[in-house]
Amino acid sequence: MSEDEHQPTACDPEVSPNGVHTWRLEALTNIWTGNASCKGENLVLTGLLGSLRWWFEVLVRGLGGAACDPNATRCQAKNHCPVCELFGCTGWARKFRFQVLDETGKTMSSAIAKAAEFQWRFVPLRGIGKEEWALLHLTFCLIADYGAIGGRTVFKPSDENSRANAQHPRDYGLVKLLEKPPLGRTDREILQQYIGGWREVDHDDFADFAWASLQNFWCVKGKCLARQNNNNSSYNKAIGRPEPKSQACRGDSWLAGRRPDRQRGVEAESKKVFSFKEPADARRTFGFVKPGTVSFHQMKERLKQAWPDLKDTDFRTGEAIFEALFKSETGDSR
Ligand SMILES: [Zn+2]
Repeated sequence: MSEDEHQPTACDPEVSPNGVHTWRLEALTNIWTGNASCKGENLVLTGLLGSLRWWFEVLVRGLGGAACDPNATRCQAKNHCPVCELFGCTGWARKFRFQVLDETGKTMSSAIAKAAEFQWRFVPLRGIGKEEWALLHLTFCLIADYGAIGGRTVFKPSDENSRANAQHPRDYGLVKLLEKPPLGRTDREILQQYIGGWREVDHDDFADFAWASLQNFWCVKGKCLARQNNNNSSYNKAIGRPEPKSQACRGDSWLAGRRPDRQRGVEAESKKVFSFKEPADARRTFGFVKPGTVSFHQMKERLKQAWPDLKDTDFRTGEAIFEALFKSETGDSR
């Protein structure tokens, strides 16, 4: 073994790869972190961490990597994906301790309210490479600029469809990134190389949630869909849910999601379109397509029914978002 191989991953001089990394954020809405009736630090952490991990998986898949779903096909300790490498799996512990702190640095033990400033702090427990820090940061940029955070907005089947009458998710989970830790420059090729070095994509294992990739992601900023449960909802039009919604939809059930039917062996499935109305300057609608089921073109045409003035350039897809994410990374340092 050469001497080089004993060295830690090369980093910019000012970056401490294994020091504490903190991101400072502002909640633009309340952030859903679990059942409101049971508060506690663990619940806050579990909800946020689950959501962070979910978006991290989206990013890793978008960069061509394999990412397992911890609720379905899991990695095992010896042969795991780059997501499990950082977030842990059976037999392989998470590489960091995650803390949510308020603006004064105190641990937050209840839900995060609108307008609150808070911090996400990562305390490394083992070596975290610069690529992993970079991926984490891109995950936060993705959430802040195009997505949303929190249990209600995680696209887990169990999380969405069983609570049809609950408050809908656009009320939760928008954040603004105020400050990032000092990080080295992010290069897409380096990250792709890093991700490619982990467990190879096994299409049989990962097929069920391969759609959850930034390559299939789209976002329209500044517009939202009307989602009230009436007979003329633009949201229902966009996802192809029949109106009035009496019958189970068939052709477009992938976008609309579906409720589980145990007797017929039908698993619950999350819907794939999310829309956020408030605050107006962070208004957005985002979702996923699935090659062979719903294309970007079809999705855009559906949205044009709700928004006749939608410009093609307003419908941003994964590739454009990747470009924007990496561009802002090499340009400003926030
Ligand atoms: Zn994994």
